[in-house]
Amino acid sequence: MSFLGYKSIIEEGDLVLAFIGRDSIKPINVKAGEILNTRYGAFPHDIMIGSKYGAQVSGSKGFGFIHLLYPTPELWSISLPHRTQIVYTPDSSYIVQRLGITAGSRVIEAGTGSGSFSHALARTVNETGKLFTYEFHESRYLEAKKEFEDHHLPNFIITHRDVCENGFDIIQNDETVDVSADSVFLDLPSPWTAIPRLKSVVAKGKRIGICCFSPCIEQVLKTVEALEAEGWTGIEMVEVAGRKWEARKDMVRTLDDALDRLRDVKRRQLEGIEKVKLIRAQRDNTPVESADVEVSSGSKREATEEADSEEPISKKARGFNPWGRGIRVREGDEAYQWFNVTRGEGEVKSHTSYLTFAHYLNFDDE
Ligand code: SAM
Repeated sequence: MSFLGYKSIIEEGDLVLAFIGRDSIKPINVKAGEILNTRYGAFPHDIMIGSKYGAQVSGSKGFGFIHLLYPTPELWSISLPHRTQIVYTPDSSYIVQRLGITAGSRVIEAGTGSGSFSHALARTVNETGKLFTYEFHESRYLEAKKEFEDHHLPNFIITHRDVCENGFDIIQNDETVDVSADSVFLDLPSPWTAIPRLKSVVAKGKRIGICCFSPCIEQVLKTVEALEAEGWTGIEMVEVAGRKWEARKDMVRTLDDALDRLRDVKRRQLEGIEKVKLIRAQRDNTPVESADVEVSSGSKREATEEADSEEPISKKARGFNPWGRGIRVREGDEAYQWFNVTRGEGEVKSHTSYLTFAHYLNFDDE
């Protein structure tokens, strides 16, 4: 199993994302003899080994099931163990395309945090590129390092470092690593203190892109000042405010439709009252005309319901009435007039920080 590729059969030791529900995806490392317990019952790992990624498996309770999903950076970001705030896919996908990060890119990321964006970056730069990620919090650094190794990310160097104090240069085996980054992503509380330390690690003779991810506008202002002071250009700030829109058609309703509706209500009330008169007359063995029916609005409603339940009027015979009961009309049916409407839904999960982009033409030594 690798985040950079795909395989179809689950083997022991693989990471599986158990899709239990839309808000519940559980990462599991498949191990013979172990059991995943969920509200749908127990799922022995043994039944997963040899199954296909994507398979649906039933629980021990005899109802409910889970799906065994192949890990992707997108699914990982909504199922990973949180150690920090993270970057979600609506932001990470925008940043990747806006900075032009692609296979072969060399990217600096600080800090690593929960490694959410690191997975997306590692997948994008692929085996021919490199991710240089930095984290100063020791246990977060160690957990991220282990996670990247467990997930077989082949193309990263993670460094335990305070980049604001000590910069981005990397020494391995007494040798300076050639970072030559073409893209930089800073998710730090004070990116403006790290920006002046980038010059020695960005690629020469290239246009370098940077994105700083900050939740408040005061941080953005300080970042912009630092970028300008260091010669970065084309500075722009955007916010990704993810939102889902439902688009559908609503039927055009005319004044005649409203009048038809009122006539329909009146007709059904009268039919109901007449039926109640008849029922009571039969019950009391009195002539229909003399049945004593009080027509307060409440009893009218009861009378209508009683009559409806006695002998429902056929929907077809009633015809379609846009505001009342009647036949169902398929949305967009060409026999009727429609207009297009949209409705906003709840916000898509994202960190909704401000993204400050800029570029730097690093031709200093050319
Ligand atoms: N982008 C990450 C993700 O998607 O999972 C989340 C990053 S988290 C919001 C910020 C991280 O930066 C924290 O883990 C913090 O410890 C680290 N950090 C803060 N200041 C730092 C510094 N000066 N040098 C290195 N890491 C730093």
